[in-house]
Amino acid sequence: MTGRREELRAGLDAVRGRIDAACAAAGRDPAEVTLVVVTKFFPRTDVDVLHELGVRDVGENRDQEAAEKLDPRDRPADLTVHFIGQLQSNKAGSVASYADVVHSIDRPKLVPALERGAHRAGRRLAGLVQVNLDEDAAAGRGGAAPTDVPALCETVAGSSLELRGLMAVAPLGVDPRPAFERLHALAERVRRDHPGASWISAGMSGDLEAAIDAGATHLRVGSAILGSRPPHA
Ligand SMILES: *Cc1c(COP(=O)(O)O)cnc(C)c1O
Repeated sequence: MTGRREELRAGLDAVRGRIDAACAAAGRDPAEVTLVVVTKFFPRTDVDVLHELGVRDVGENRDQEAAEKLDPRDRPADLTVHFIGQLQSNKAGSVASYADVVHSIDRPKLVPALERGAHRAGRRLAGLVQVNLDEDAAAGRGGAAPTDVPALCETVAGSSLELRGLMAVAPLGVDPRPAFERLHALAERVRRDHPGASWISAGMSGDLEAAIDAGATHLRVGSAILGSRPPHA
């Protein structure tokens, strides 16, 4: 485990260095930016080492894996678990039984399913609305169409979930900057009606600098810290 610990420490140091540099370039305080370490496909032992190294936020995108790996009865009490993957309605109840924050609410139907699951588990759940930033909606990497986002935010805010803000994945193969700027503008608009919805979850291993420049508050970074995932990930 020593070797892995050093690998993870080096990955974390490198990413924290990139975050500090991007914040300096953007004139932002690094304390405004939360690093969510995406541990999908990696074992619980990695989560425990990351926790020892100071990580308090982890992200997962597969329900069954996360349910087994991060059971709330058997994980550090100060660890916040973020569910960032595409969400099927029939998995919403399960996700609500271990996640603290769901980043991928992209349709109204998920809201009552998440509410029921959280209620049943006796847990509080926060949610972000995922926005599709692709110009070609059908080609998107998940998320609600921007025009549907305000209404979906109303639905979340009117439920027992706590609306935290917006999330997006940059479109593939193009400069992420304009997309992140559109996300930022939409987030500002949502925040006028919902002052507590202050999170912008954007930026991954390859584009975190652009996301920080466009106002991201939460980065979701996996491979730059943990190494590459199995090819089908
Ligand atoms: C896997 C994943 C990430 C992390 O991606 P990396 O490129 O490994 O940093 C971020 N966001 C979502 C939604 C993901 O599924």
